[in-house]
Amino acid sequence: MSPLELGNPELLKNCSFINGEWLQGESQFKVINPANSQVVAAVDEVSPTQLEMAIQTASKALLEWQEKTVDERASLLSKWFELIMTNQSDLAYIMTAEQGKPRKEALGEVAYGAKYIEWYAEEARRINGDVLPVNQNGRRALVLRRPVGVVTSITPWNFPGAMILRKAAPALAAGCTFVVKPSEQTPLSALALAYLANEAGIPAGVFSVIVGSNAQPIGEVLTTHPKVAKFSFTGSTAVGKKLLAQCASTVKKTSMELGGNAPLMVFDDADIDVAVNGTMGSKFRNAGQTCVCANRIFVHSKIHDEFVQKLKSRVMELKVGEGNQEGVSVGPLIEEKAVAKVERLIASAINSGARLELGGRRDPAGELFFQPTILTGITPQMDIFNSEIFGPVAAIIPFENEEEVINLANQTEYGLCSYAFTSNMNRVFRLSEKLDFGMVGINEGVLSNPAAPFGGVKESGMGREGGRWGIDDYLENKYVCIGNLD
Ligand code: ADP
Repeated sequence: MSPLELGNPELLKNCSFINGEWLQGESQFKVINPANSQVVAAVDEVSPTQLEMAIQTASKALLEWQEKTVDERASLLSKWFELIMTNQSDLAYIMTAEQGKPRKEALGEVAYGAKYIEWYAEEARRINGDVLPVNQNGRRALVLRRPVGVVTSITPWNFPGAMILRKAAPALAAGCTFVVKPSEQTPLSALALAYLANEAGIPAGVFSVIVGSNAQPIGEVLTTHPKVAKFSFTGSTAVGKKLLAQCASTVKKTSMELGGNAPLMVFDDADIDVAVNGTMGSKFRNAGQTCVCANRIFVHSKIHDEFVQKLKSRVMELKVGEGNQEGVSVGPLIEEKAVAKVERLIASAINSGARLELGGRRDPAGELFFQPTILTGITPQMDIFNSEIFGPVAAIIPFENEEEVINLANQTEYGLCSYAFTSNMNRVFRLSEKLDFGMVGINEGVLSNPAAPFGGVKESGMGREGGRWGIDDYLENKYVCIGNLD
């Protein structure tokens, strides 16, 4: 096992954090660095008793947490934010070791996730109720905004820190307590965040992290326990559907941030350099492993060849390698299955007539590294058009007109993010309204912003993370009617 050299070695934890304590387990699972297949850490499996304890103590902590003044909650969150930023370098190092992303992106993710805590520490002060008009004299009608209660959550490996903080920050700000199970592939970032929450003085039971490699039985408890009021998930649509069904048995509130199949459209009136820049940001970030990555790149036939040429020269500049190496911009994929899927999608597209412009193979940097790839001549019949690629592969489809491309873009069961590059203002509004996606980026490839509602429509999920919408998802609107007043 290669020990991580951290400025603050306390950040590296290897067991669940429940009710303010680190609880050891009887067996362990390994966290593997995808860049070199070395073991980063062995982590204790949560036991069923500990899991039950996590929920019971979250439920017990609820009252005290809700009764804190907003100032108290906000100042604890602010302290957490500050500690995360003070430890940004180590947190990024842990993240690159377990997930593979380049150091610059890992540093960016830590700051991005922390921003949600800072933002919701402030938003906590604006959880305002309402006083309503009444239908009878002698009555008063109020709407109280109350925390939903205990929140459980399951998060994925592609953003091991930010996907947790986007949920925990509004939940805690609203007065909920929170139990999260991070991906078994990336539990270390989550545990480091728990260590810092504890250091910040967030009370025991308010933020617990349970780690285990057997997601199914843990998920079963998190989605069916009667003391849990809400379940929030980020992950694949297939797993999300199962978890949603499990939540039905006790009618839990749910937020689901699921898969995507983002279209990116480049019109003939676009600034091509801006479009190429946006495509690079949207497509190759995190080696193409984000749910908002451009999955289908539609380019108007008039500018197709120029766009492909320019994209090619930018992609050729990308450096594949271990995330901490100087200048690396594309890290490994998370596991062999992911590399095999990318290979299969490329081979099948080429067999059906697509043209390989660049890349297309495993990269010599290591087993799980894949060359940044460009394919042209993609058609809606190909698997690659209809699957979430989750790899560094730009799949380009030529188009002729706006109506055609909007129809093609919407031709998916997913509806998370979409992008368009154009200089026509009328078109901007038409696209914003007609694209069936929760988010539309115009002349931009990276949209995330703690003030904005991140989330999808159709089978990409429900609920929003960010902004006032993000905190609404953790609040109940309670109607109080007071009668017979003088
Ligand atoms: P991804 O493709 O991003 O890995 P998954 O949906 O497979 O998406 O995984 C996201 C999270 O869901 C991870 O934390 C994983 O452990 C968890 N998970 C996967 N399958 C199940 C399941 N059957 N029940 C509960 N959680 C699951």
